[in-house]
Amino acid sequence: MSDMVDPQIFYQKLQQYVDWCIENLYASKDPIQLHRFIQSICGYKIPTKRVCPEHCSPFEFIADSFFDKVSKFLVIANRNGGKTQNFGILNAIDALCKPTCEIASVGAIEDQANKCYQYTVAILKKSFFKPLLSKEPMISKTRLDNGAEISILPGTMSGVNGPHPQRTNFDEVELTQWKILQEFMSMAKSSKTVPSCVRITSTRKFPHGPMQKLINEKDQRSFKMYMWCIWETIEPCPDYRSGTVPCFVLISDPVTKGIYQAKVFSDNKDDYLKEFPLDVISKNREKYTGCLSCPLVEICQTKAKNSDGYYDIKDTIDKFTGMDRTTWDAQWECKKPGRDGLVYGEFDESIHVIPQENFKFNPNFRTITAQDWGYEDPAATAFIQFLPNGDAVMFDEMYERRKQTPVLIKHYLKPKNDLYRPEVWLADPENPDAIAQMETAGFPVQEAVKDIEGGIEKVRSWLRTADGYVRLYITSNCVNAIEEFNSYSYPEKGGNKPLDKNNHLMDCIRYIFDSLNDIGDSDGTVKCEVY
Ligand SMILES: [Zn+2]
Repeated sequence: MSDMVDPQIFYQKLQQYVDWCIENLYASKDPIQLHRFIQSICGYKIPTKRVCPEHCSPFEFIADSFFDKVSKFLVIANRNGGKTQNFGILNAIDALCKPTCEIASVGAIEDQANKCYQYTVAILKKSFFKPLLSKEPMISKTRLDNGAEISILPGTMSGVNGPHPQRTNFDEVELTQWKILQEFMSMAKSSKTVPSCVRITSTRKFPHGPMQKLINEKDQRSFKMYMWCIWETIEPCPDYRSGTVPCFVLISDPVTKGIYQAKVFSDNKDDYLKEFPLDVISKNREKYTGCLSCPLVEICQTKAKNSDGYYDIKDTIDKFTGMDRTTWDAQWECKKPGRDGLVYGEFDESIHVIPQENFKFNPNFRTITAQDWGYEDPAATAFIQFLPNGDAVMFDEMYERRKQTPVLIKHYLKPKNDLYRPEVWLADPENPDAIAQMETAGFPVQEAVKDIEGGIEKVRSWLRTADGYVRLYITSNCVNAIEEFNSYSYPEKGGNKPLDKNNHLMDCIRYIFDSLNDIGDSDGTVKCEVY
């Protein structure tokens, strides 16, 4: 019993340790002490391992920022990559360890700024620090007895115009306007005792968005770039999951079209140093063990075994198999969105277009139609049938210019409605008069959901999930849809809103996949009255 520590004394020593850190951590310049303090006292374990050769660990960013090794940070991280949480931690430890330090956190969306604030306050309210809080924290201003202050500011022109704190954060810049960002970048001013810093973080979603612009200009703007991805933040993959018998997966390189060998593991001794083509194992995962049975094998290639992060492996699998590869590559592996501005870069005529004669319309399957209005621009209509196997086929289209609405409805849309009897005819809500006319004429018309960004991600996930499943096909007669898929693009100058051209059938297709949840899920068949 003699070597047991009296809990009372332990707690006093712990408070002494905390007090020592508040006094000396900054001057110590010791990253190991810093990591220990954040883990044991603040309660966050920040990943410290660089897994991808071109990336860094999240802790490198925290340490460089806290110790003021760098003054301008450009952080690109994956979704769920801890960006907001890291800001919350940095705000708290800057305020605790740097007396008189003024901190401003700006969120592109208010919710983001509020979350960051919650992280900060959760740390400051710990019993070790509570005596330092001057009064109850407020989102507009939290004050500490050492003179430090934290403000959360809205990501608007007036929010970023005026105050000159030393430490400034901007979270999710991909969702803000360039002029606001420019104003933000000139906010930070050093004081006599606290150096200034500018910290910008985001996922990179768009090939020409604000994040890419900052990356392109990082040298002239003197930013140091920090990038990490899912492989730095995923929880370590244990041997009992991956197996320990070395073997190889043969993967075709999408760029060179050549085949390369990736070393992975299996749990089966017979697999020792054997080679397995990716398409063979991915079709029969249940027959294999270890890495060979994991849906992540193609992209992970044992990287998760080298990580010391926190993100759940099962959740990672769910994300990867539930989204399109373009979004996965950009937002989870932080690769440059490489579509040369095409909105649907994953559309591939040789995969997605099927001969018209290979599709037979079946009146018992679910059919959904969508309508975009036009006059000089065409009025466009897309017809999609959902098959019992889960696939969707766009099998017919209309693209009619210079038709008055009554003529369009009576002579063009009505015959198709009688022929295909769609379950729902979604329509752009911008033209309520035309919708009323369709209602009168007996169409099953319904206003479409208009969420461009969310809708585009849904269509992409039908074109191809990240793990390679194609679920949307276009029959060869839909020539206008095929042309739009090949030309619908983002503006060259940047931004996350596609150009308002080549988008008529693209809008229709988006309405259909974005409204699917609202019109109820279906097993592919329609309960159809018998005539
Ligand atoms: Zn990485």
